[in-house]
Amino acid sequence: MAQELWQRALRVLPGGVNSPVRSFRGVGGEPFFVARGQGPYLYDQEGRRYVDYVMSYGPLILGHAPPAVVRAVQEQAALGLSFGAPTQLEVEMAELLTEAVPGLEMVRMVNSGTEATMSALRVARAVTGRARVVKFHGCYHGHHDTLLIKAGSGAATLGVPDSQGVPPTLAELTLTVGYNDVEALESVFSRFGAEIAAVIVEPVAGNMGTVPPSPGFLEAIRRLTRQAGALMVVDEVMTGFRVAWGGASRAFGLEPDLVCLGKVIGAGMPVAAYGGRREYMERVAPLGGVYQAGTLSGNPLAMAGGLAQLRALSAPGTYQRLGELADRLGRELVAMARSHGVAASYHAVGGMMTLFFREPAPKNFEEVAAGDATRFGRFFHGMRERGVFWPPSPYESAFPSLAHDEKAVEATLAAAAEVFRRGV
Ligand SMILES: *Cc1c(COP(=O)(O)O)cnc(C)c1O
Repeated sequence: MAQELWQRALRVLPGGVNSPVRSFRGVGGEPFFVARGQGPYLYDQEGRRYVDYVMSYGPLILGHAPPAVVRAVQEQAALGLSFGAPTQLEVEMAELLTEAVPGLEMVRMVNSGTEATMSALRVARAVTGRARVVKFHGCYHGHHDTLLIKAGSGAATLGVPDSQGVPPTLAELTLTVGYNDVEALESVFSRFGAEIAAVIVEPVAGNMGTVPPSPGFLEAIRRLTRQAGALMVVDEVMTGFRVAWGGASRAFGLEPDLVCLGKVIGAGMPVAAYGGRREYMERVAPLGGVYQAGTLSGNPLAMAGGLAQLRALSAPGTYQRLGELADRLGRELVAMARSHGVAASYHAVGGMMTLFFREPAPKNFEEVAAGDATRFGRFFHGMRERGVFWPPSPYESAFPSLAHDEKAVEATLAAAAEVFRRGV
């Protein structure tokens, strides 16, 4: 049945999916179709249960279908799905976010992380009157043209498009630098400083697996952008309210000019946001000349669900529990791998973690890419056969949730023990 559905999907959806990673190209094999999720578990259409570490790629920090979030969405649905006119929920969401996230004085809700980073860069370009943008190799900020750029290795290079259909003249505006490479960033600023509108960064990289910032890296971005009159755009679409309450900006004491949020703030609904200092956000329409709009932006269902999730997260101890869980998973998986002679390492920051099949743990994209992808594929399929849904690519972070209780974690570790015993 699943195979027949997959054949149907392949006929009418590119690669059978609505977002590429779901097709399992990174690990081979065919994806399963989800019937439902509950707590830490996902159930496929054939009734198989998986301990889920994909968790919709980050938003589901309370687990699948948490009662408080489901109730909030159901209650709002009965009152109407969308209005195209203001609701109190949007004000409450904006107040919560501006209270929690440093530097966020005004915020605009949008529908995806892609939209948030695209709009933030538009503001940065308007504010500075400059065109160039700096991004880091291995950081993902969504799929709009300016940021869909791959770096050359090592020193900074003019961006070349990472995708067909992106005009090279546009890609040239994006300068790429290795993550955690302060020297390369300094040399980009010494060459292009007066032309740079913004540096955009994942404060903890999560889209090449989890890679934390080296000491001094984020501080160097802040120093160099200030000196050059460029803006620092902190992309917290993944890290926001996942690594800590108020995001990495708050946990690390950053002073961003603009911040992007998404994923957790929407609880699994299509929600993201961008914002920052008042003087910058006052440039956005209708106050200013930076045009940006959205028919469904600030959607009441999404606001109700997101607010319910954020309020649950604000309870004391949530992030400590999540951080301990992610770290324990990493520690125990690495110990198991090494006890079977398999090179392995991990990074865990708050509720994000990645197991790497290499040593030592990587600090940039090149080092992540040097991991053993074949071994990762065997690990993924071994886990899947034993009821654990690990992210289907060595470049995706795993996302434990607050619903991952002792039983789910023990099932995960038992599956991994068997996978490593049989050999990856
Ligand atoms: C997921 C992600 C995005 C893109 O968000 P979409 O909602 O998929 O468009 C942007 N930036 C970061 C850091 C992300 O993790």
